[in-house]
Amino acid sequence: LFISFEGIDGSGKSTQARMLADTLRAMGRDVVLTREPGGSPGAEEIRALVLQGDPDRWSAETEILLFTAARRDHLERTIQPALDAGKVVICDRFADSTRMYQGLSRGDLRATVDQLHTLMIGREPDLTILIDMDPATGLSRALSRKGLEERFESFGHDLQAQMRQGFLDLAAEFPDRITVIDGARAPDAVAADVTTIATARLP
Ligand code: C5P
Repeated sequence: LFISFEGIDGSGKSTQARMLADTLRAMGRDVVLTREPGGSPGAEEIRALVLQGDPDRWSAETEILLFTAARRDHLERTIQPALDAGKVVICDRFADSTRMYQGLSRGDLRATVDQLHTLMIGREPDLTILIDMDPATGLSRALSRKGLEERFESFGHDLQAQMRQGFLDLAAEFPDRITVIDGARAPDAVAADVTTIATARLP
């Protein structure tokens, strides 16, 4: 089973991904917890290229190619082998983040993202959990956290609001795959919903 978590910065999706991994492990499942961009040695190198340094270093199109290259490596080296071995893969962000961050926020490039995805990735998670959160809350959480890459810290409130709406639209576009969870509650309450939804999909 391949599960991804999506949401705006500060939505708490990384915490929820970790909590679900802990819960499933406690149930005796073999879990691989991974993240994007990154999740394999090569993809982590690409992550550093994209997220650190001058934000204008890459054009939007080049950035889409880099994220897709990172995803391809992550899929080949980490995700697919784990799925083939019968493990549960939990991924903090996957292609939906590229549909939003590169496909929406830097111009109307969604079609380009989707075409490359079809050509080079060719699969979606079995289940995507969208942790929905009001941008003001998300942004204050994200900015108060240490170590968030500066590359995207400059995302302001308007862009976060655009991303939130974009993610909700995506959930409406893929209702069978994407489940929306209200993230503006205590982490344990959110985690309880996540556990219910994820365990219902377990083989
Ligand atoms: O999920 P995480 O906080 O590690 O993501 C790091 C940053 O990379 C975020 O600020 C997010 O906005 C950005 N990002 C992006 N495009 C992606 C994935 C992440 O701009 N496809």
